[in-house]
Amino acid sequence: MDEQLVLAVDLGTSGCKTALVTRSGTVLAWAYRPVALHLLEGAGAEQVPEDWWQAFLATAREVLDNAGMPAWRVAAVCCSTQGEGTIPVDREGIPLMNAITWMDMRGAASLRKQVRGWVNVAGYDPLKLARWLRLCGGAPALSGKDPAAHMLFIRDMYPQVYQNTYKFLNVLDYLNLRLTGRFVATHDSILTSWVTDNRDVNRIRYDGKLLQASGIDAEKFPELVPCTEVIGVLRAEVANELGLQRNTAVVAGAIDNSAAAIGAGTLADGDAHLYLGTSSWIGAHVSQKKTDISAMIAAIPCAVPSKYLMMAMQTSAGNNLSFLKEKILYHQDELLREEQLPDVYKIFDRIAAKVPAGSHGLLYAPWLYGERCPVEDRSLRGGLFNLSLDHTRETVIRAILEGVALNTRWMVDPVQRFLGRKLDHLTAVGGGASSNVWCQIFADVLGQPIRQLAEPMQANAIGAAYIAFVGLRQLDFASAAAQTRYRASYQPNHVHRNLYDDCFGTFTELHRRLAPLYQRLNHQGL
Ligand code: ADP
Repeated sequence: MDEQLVLAVDLGTSGCKTALVTRSGTVLAWAYRPVALHLLEGAGAEQVPEDWWQAFLATAREVLDNAGMPAWRVAAVCCSTQGEGTIPVDREGIPLMNAITWMDMRGAASLRKQVRGWVNVAGYDPLKLARWLRLCGGAPALSGKDPAAHMLFIRDMYPQVYQNTYKFLNVLDYLNLRLTGRFVATHDSILTSWVTDNRDVNRIRYDGKLLQASGIDAEKFPELVPCTEVIGVLRAEVANELGLQRNTAVVAGAIDNSAAAIGAGTLADGDAHLYLGTSSWIGAHVSQKKTDISAMIAAIPCAVPSKYLMMAMQTSAGNNLSFLKEKILYHQDELLREEQLPDVYKIFDRIAAKVPAGSHGLLYAPWLYGERCPVEDRSLRGGLFNLSLDHTRETVIRAILEGVALNTRWMVDPVQRFLGRKLDHLTAVGGGASSNVWCQIFADVLGQPIRQLAEPMQANAIGAAYIAFVGLRQLDFASAAAQTRYRASYQPNHVHRNLYDDCFGTFTELHRRLAPLYQRLNHQGL
C-alpha cells in the first residue's frame, strides 16, 4: 500500500503528458496538455519554454489530485523529452529567447560554413568529418536541425543573446534546471551538439577538439551526467507548488527515444521498437558504436548502461494525420462551421478500416518537412499521387496511413543491414500506435508482426519512470522490461503482400523521380 511512485513526464512536440507510475509500470493517473508549435518564415520552428513548464505544472497537479496519494509516496520526478531543441539561458536560468526545436532549420547556412574546409566531402571538411564520426558516431546535420546548427544560428544572428548565454540547454536539460536549479546535460541530450567523445559508452565526456570545431565557447556547455543519476531534489518552490516533499529526488532522465525503448520493453540487443508519434523512428539497443552515414542510421548514447541505441529516424509520421485534421479538415477559415472538434483520430480509424488495402491506387508521400532516413533531404515534400474522380476523403485518409507505413518500410532494409539481422517483429509505441487499423497496416506493409503496447501513448512516461526507479536503485532495467504489457499482436495479412510490394516499388520510384523536382522547388531559401 505504501509503494513508492514516480512522477514521470513525457514532453513531446505536441504537448506534455505526465503520469504517476508504480515500480511495476502501472500508471495510476495520467494527464495531457497541448503545447503550441510556432512555425516561422524561413524554416523556423519554435516553442515557448514557459509553455512547457506551465503544461508540466498543470498536468502534474492534475495527476496528483486525481490519484489522491500522500505526497511522501512520490519518491522522484523524472523526464523524457523531445530531443535536439536549444534554449540559451542566462546565469539565473532565464531563457533569452524562444526554444529552437528539432524541426528548425534556420541554422543550416551557419552550420555549413562551420563544417566546411578547403577541400570538402559531402559538404564537410574530411578531417573534421572523420573526427566526428570516430568520436561521436555521427556529425552535425547539414539540414540545420540539431543544436550544433541552432547555437551557430544564435551566435551569428542574435549576437547579444549569444553573449548573454550562460549555458545552452536541450529540452530535457531545461526541465531539469527548472526542477532542481542545476545546469546539466545528460549523456544523450548532449549528443547532437556533437562535442562529446562517445567511444566508451560508460564514460562520455567533452572533447577539446570537438568543442573547438563546434564554433561555440566551451564554457557555454553544461556539466554532463548519466541518465540514471539523481541530480538533486525539487526546488522548494516547485515542491510547494505541487504539494510534494522537499526531499523528492529528481533523476536526470532521457531523450524520448531512449525512454520509449525502455517503456516498450525492448531491452535485448536488436529487439526493435517502432515509435509512431509526431515523427517516427525504429530504435533498438546494440552493444557497439556504429554509424551508417549513407542511410543516416547511428548507434547513440542512451539511458541503459553499457548500451547504445540504434536510431533510424523519420521526420513526419503522426503529424501527417494532425496536418490533415488541423490544416485541411478543421482549418479555421470560412468553410469551418463546427466549433467543437470530435475525437478525429478515432473517426479516421473507422473510415480507414472501410477502404480497401491499396487505397484504390492512391499513393501518399509523407515528407511534409523533408526526410532524414534513409535519405537526408530537407527539400522533399508531401503529396498525393494518382488522385482520381473515384477517390474521396475516405480514400485520402487511408492513403495517408499507408504512405507513412511505406515510408517506414523504406528504412527497414538499412536498419536490418545495420543490425546484421532480420527483424522478426516490431513493438509499436507512441500516439499513432493507439490506432489498431494503423498497426495492421504496418504489419501488412512491413511484412512483420506488430506488437502493440497496452497503452502505446504512455510508453515514454513509463520509460522515464523506470529510469527513475533504476536511479533510486529500486529496480533494474531487465526486470523493468519483463513487466511490459501488450494489448495485441498484428500478423501480416499475406493476401496483401503483392499489392503492398507493388505500392512500395512505386513509392521509392516516386522518390527517385521527384527528388530533383523538390530540390529545384524548395532548396532555395532553406
Ligand atoms: P509526440 O509525443 O511525438 O508529439 P504522440 O505520442 O503524442 O507524439 O503522438 C501524437 C500523434 O499521434 C498525433 O500526431 C496523431 O497523429 C497520432 N494519434 C493520436 N491518437 C491517434 C489515434 N487514435 N489513431 C491514430 N493516430 C493517433
